[in-house]
Amino acid sequence: MNEKSSTTALLDETQSKKSYPAKVYSARSATSALAPGTIQRRTPRPHDIQIEILFCGVCHSDLHQVRNEWEGAMPTVYPCVPGHEIVGRVVKVGTAVKKFKEGDIAAVGCLVDSCGVCPSCREGSEQFCDGPATFTYNSEDKQLGGVTYGGYSESLVVTEAFALRVPKQLDLAGTAPLLCAGITTYSPLRHWNVKKGQKVGIVGLGGLGHMGLKFAHAFGAHAILFTTSPNKAEDAVRLGADEVVVSKNPSEMQKHLASFDFILDTVSAPHDLNAYIDLLKRDGTLTLVGAPPTPSPVNGFGLLFKRRQLAGSLIGGIRETQEMLDFCGQHGITSDIELIRIQQINEAFDRMLKSDVKYRFVIDMASLK
Ligand code: NAP
Ligand code: ZN
Repeated sequence: MNEKSSTTALLDETQSKKSYPAKVYSARSATSALAPGTIQRRTPRPHDIQIEILFCGVCHSDLHQVRNEWEGAMPTVYPCVPGHEIVGRVVKVGTAVKKFKEGDIAAVGCLVDSCGVCPSCREGSEQFCDGPATFTYNSEDKQLGGVTYGGYSESLVVTEAFALRVPKQLDLAGTAPLLCAGITTYSPLRHWNVKKGQKVGIVGLGGLGHMGLKFAHAFGAHAILFTTSPNKAEDAVRLGADEVVVSKNPSEMQKHLASFDFILDTVSAPHDLNAYIDLLKRDGTLTLVGAPPTPSPVNGFGLLFKRRQLAGSLIGGIRETQEMLDFCGQHGITSDIELIRIQQINEAFDRMLKSDVKYRFVIDMASLK
């Protein structure tokens, strides 16, 4: 063996100890479809668990990121493996792991690491880490280099501190979307203290919106769904809405002027925010969780005359995500899903763009084998 090939063999050996191959579905560019591929996952370190992924939800953020629609704020690095609504089985544990053992069910959401020492991390709001936080995909991978890869994959390795426990009574496929759509709606509804006696609006009946309705209803609020899809009205009532307003109909919107305590906007595309600001009563809050790629104009007068507030919210920290999962366990809450095979993912993205999701696609990862 010459010097060069022996070095290569040594590197290959070191690399294979540090990592192992995993099958994925990934996008090679902003315009290419998701297709099969292989990536490297790190071999578990002392505090890591290795998860065989059973189910992964399909979030509209996956579509925004795969198509590089958030280029200004979070440019996409290719290949991109999306997916941050992950439920799976623990197949390996590092020597120092305490929370999980082989065979346990574990869940992972949008976060896989954070600095642990900044003020936000110390208070359990790791999503706002100054580090910044390491997101499940398209974030810097501090162990292997390159970027992190998400849950459209057969396997994932994560430090146990960022893995969640799933209450035993919950259906696993219906639980996956709780890891993003669930916590992203639970967290602001809790933060703004939504409760009985309040009039609360949820804008958009997709993945986030249907979880928002379930939580607003469970917290005792009078929940009103705003939708552009009149054919979703019946489902909305079943999911927890006390009333449904078709937002394209100005006279229906007028009836609710200056009457809401809180409105949660989950819409994925540009739309008129001022129409919702006008529906808030004095000191009411409109919180955005939807993340359309382009900005929407805001009329300051709508805010200042009634001291209304416009706010935003980003997923939730690990402690709050566990609290949300436990709440769902106690109240029997899961997502309403359509289970798909990974080979149907591009069709699912197209349907999501047409608001044709009832109400979250979840990938059965056994189809990747
Ligand atoms: P989704 O399942 O596609 O639902 C979005 C819903 O918005 C649609 O079902 C539709 O509801 C409504 N909508 C779509 N286009 C519209 C338009 N042009 N005008 C008015 N309404 C429209 O998406 P999702 O997964 O729930 O995600 C929603 C947004 O939240 C995305 O932008 C996503 O990136 C973002 N997100 C943010 C966070 C966070 O931490 N802040 C976390 C996850 C996701 P109707 O048919 O009822 O009108
Ligand atoms: Zn998401």
